[in-house]
Amino acid sequence: MNQNDLKPLHKALCTLLGTRFSTDSTVRDAHARDASYHRGTLPDAVAFPKTNAEVAEIVKICVKHNVPIVPYGTGTGVEGAVVTSEGALCIALNEMNRILRVSPDDRDATVQAGVTRLQLNTHLTAIGTQLHFPVDPGADASLGGMVATRASGTSAVKYGTMLDNVLGLTVVTADGSIVHTGGRARKSAAGYDLTRLFIGSEGTLGIITEITVKLTRLPEAVAAAVCAFPNIAAAVDTVIELIGIGIGIARIELLDERQMEAVNRYAGLTYEVAPTLFFEFHGSAHTVAESSEVADKIAAAHGSGDFRWATDENQRKKLWQARYDSYYAALNRHPGSVGYVTDVCVPITRLAECIARTKALLEKSSVIPSILGHVGDGNFHVVFPLEPDNNNELAEAQQFSHQIVDIALEMGGTCTGEHGIGIGKRKALEKEHGEAVDLMRAIKHALDPLNLMNPGKVFL
Ligand SMILES: Cc1cc2nc3c(=O)[nH]c(=O)nc-3n(C[C@H](O)[C@H](O)[C@H](O)COP(=O)(O)OP(=O)(O)OC[C@H]3O[C@@H](n4cnc5c(N)ncnc54)[C@H](O)[C@@H]3O)c2cc1C
Repeated sequence: MNQNDLKPLHKALCTLLGTRFSTDSTVRDAHARDASYHRGTLPDAVAFPKTNAEVAEIVKICVKHNVPIVPYGTGTGVEGAVVTSEGALCIALNEMNRILRVSPDDRDATVQAGVTRLQLNTHLTAIGTQLHFPVDPGADASLGGMVATRASGTSAVKYGTMLDNVLGLTVVTADGSIVHTGGRARKSAAGYDLTRLFIGSEGTLGIITEITVKLTRLPEAVAAAVCAFPNIAAAVDTVIELIGIGIGIARIELLDERQMEAVNRYAGLTYEVAPTLFFEFHGSAHTVAESSEVADKIAAAHGSGDFRWATDENQRKKLWQARYDSYYAALNRHPGSVGYVTDVCVPITRLAECIARTKALLEKSSVIPSILGHVGDGNFHVVFPLEPDNNNELAEAQQFSHQIVDIALEMGGTCTGEHGIGIGKRKALEKEHGEAVDLMRAIKHALDPLNLMNPGKVFL
């Protein structure tokens, strides 16, 4: 599509949005990719709506001009789901950043899709509630992007994923209609669950503009600990045993020895270079003390080193910073590299075997990947730091990723616990779901017959 074809579209969007519509190359470049190695072309323009009505009008204009639409949250995705193709319009949601309502007694809130999780949590503290939104993917992602990718993260082992924490949505569909799904009731048996259909749809079914989320009481007490293990199997066996007895763990994260070496170097820390578990316990002062003691004993029985404890908030933040820095620390091992991340999830009892087989496979890798994971959910990631534009390294990482997915699927797992499909896992989706992918395509076609909503993502 050449510029002349786009002129009427530009004119219509400029009239609607004024300066909140941009064809500037810097702005387009800033919205062309996510945090991964995936690259496409620049979007032809970027629109910054503020209201549901504006989003609906933009979609109607795009339908009229047959222009594909790519929604953009904060661009922290890692499977290339915001990468644009020729002629696409990017709808950036960052100016839809108003917190519309907080109801402390019902423990819910409604926000516009561009509100980030830290913005919501800062607001909940500022207005004096004892509540928080607990889903934490590490990055300060937008709530809209988190819904669209069905995000989870470090705290899912206690608080669940986006699937468990969203009550309702406002969505602009592919024909420009504004629909409301779900509501504020804690349970409902009213018809098809459209909210869950949009959760994880990666912008391919519609644009999420408002989200009603559940809020959770802040825990009375929190304790954090870090402890090293002689090998990965001992660390994972500790996790399996702790999950099995059901103690109040809010986060339990594994970093392998390569990842620990990377975080030490990145942040000037002095952790032992060994497979390490990061724990966080939430609950009453009594339950946190009890859970911590049990975890300490079970870890020791698996040969762990000493627990390094922190209860004060600043100390806890410092202790956990190594975990939050891990993606950038892994890339920093080869300055200038881009990340190829793979993410699989298996039933917890198969986790040790899955990681062991993955590790054995990775011995043959030339790019020295590291492993980290939300092991309490049976979920782990492999990060390959790749030289930009090095096709050999990319092909190698892709090959390993396919093999890791095969191992996970063989164990009854999934090709992605939380990062989604984007363009990176489309083949893996076919492998995992087979004919059910045809049913997914039929739903996509029914809701977006012109294939304008984030085309090329999720499906090959
Ligand atoms: C350092 C780091 C750590 C991470 N750790 C985790 C983790 O622990 N757990 C985890 O789950 N993820 C993790 N991620 C990935 C990422 O943060 C999540 O996928 C996040 O949910 C993406 O949100 P976003 O706002 O950045 O979305 P974007 O990257 O902007 O978009 C992601 C997808 O959502 C679509 N989208 C965005 N907004 C909307 C909308 N309003 N309506 C419809 N579609 C929309 C986009 O089109 C795209 O398909 C991590 C990323 C980084 C960089």
